[in-house]
Amino acid sequence: MNTVVAMKNKNENITTAISEEEIRPDDLFNAFMDLSAKDAENFFDKSKFIEVPCPGCGKAENENHFLKHSFRYNHCSECGSIYASPRPDSAALLSYYATSESQRFWAEAVLAKTGQKRKESIMMPNISRVEDVLAKRGRRPKRILDVGSANGAFLTEWKKRHPEAELFGIEPGQESAQTCRDLGIKVFENFVEDEAEKGQAQGDLVTCFEVIEHVQDPERFARAMHNITAPGGVAIMSCLGADGFDIQVLWEKSRSIVPPYHLNFLSKRGMEAMFSKAGFSKIEIYSPGRLDVEIVQKSMERGVIPGLSRFEDLLLSRGKETLQAFQEFLAGHCLSSHVWIICHKD
Ligand SMILES: [Zn+2]
Repeated sequence: MNTVVAMKNKNENITTAISEEEIRPDDLFNAFMDLSAKDAENFFDKSKFIEVPCPGCGKAENENHFLKHSFRYNHCSECGSIYASPRPDSAALLSYYATSESQRFWAEAVLAKTGQKRKESIMMPNISRVEDVLAKRGRRPKRILDVGSANGAFLTEWKKRHPEAELFGIEPGQESAQTCRDLGIKVFENFVEDEAEKGQAQGDLVTCFEVIEHVQDPERFARAMHNITAPGGVAIMSCLGADGFDIQVLWEKSRSIVPPYHLNFLSKRGMEAMFSKAGFSKIEIYSPGRLDVEIVQKSMERGVIPGLSRFEDLLLSRGKETLQAFQEFLAGHCLSSHVWIICHKD
């Protein structure tokens, strides 16, 4: 079954249609999951892994945990965040992203096949959503700084719709950075954590999509985001969060919890704590997710979990209308795993 969840998020008035199959085709994604499981088990020297505290609230000791492909994920008893600890250091992660089989497969097979669909079903709605967030807050930023600007697709599309914008990117990949330059984007070829310390990159609007779950040191990342946001500016980020329906129901069976790619799943409380500590004056969090219910349904069909609670079974047996309404409820109450964070800087 391939339920397309098309819905209108009451908070932000964006209507989009998306299905899990479009961005994660089953055959390719299963192959990727198999490869990353093998890589997670074998690639690293785990004696060099580093213990980290909860990236949300900073709590050092958390006893509740589960294992996923030999990585330990802690569940913070204070703020509810889920995070891998111990974890690889930055150098080991860099090496992984540069040389692992699963990363190569992701770039060459998955992205190559789903790139156009991802553009339509992820990037374009992202642009509309950012516009909506800004319009509702009466903001008209001029300098747009995209963190992880990749091939510049987001910024280029932004410029078409906002010709007055000045475009900046932070992108560590040499080839991608050059592609951005060729498109007229001023690029800082670096990691955001290192670039932020130089104090040159600044945006009135800073965007960063689906990065937080990957970063080795989320606190340092949050401070970097604060540093590169101009005074009076706003940073808008999307990420996967721990409070989402699919994460909470599937837990260690969730296909989103895939080490070492996704190390951090902050709860709403954890995100608020982390970005406040980084210096942002106001933090708004909402979850416009559209896929939680479909992901749980498909996981049931695959038999990845033995069963649901009586009520969850009853809920999922109801028709499309009920499930769409339930997904809307999740989205409206920060209970979807697809989260947007809007951080304001004084
Ligand atoms: Zn915590």
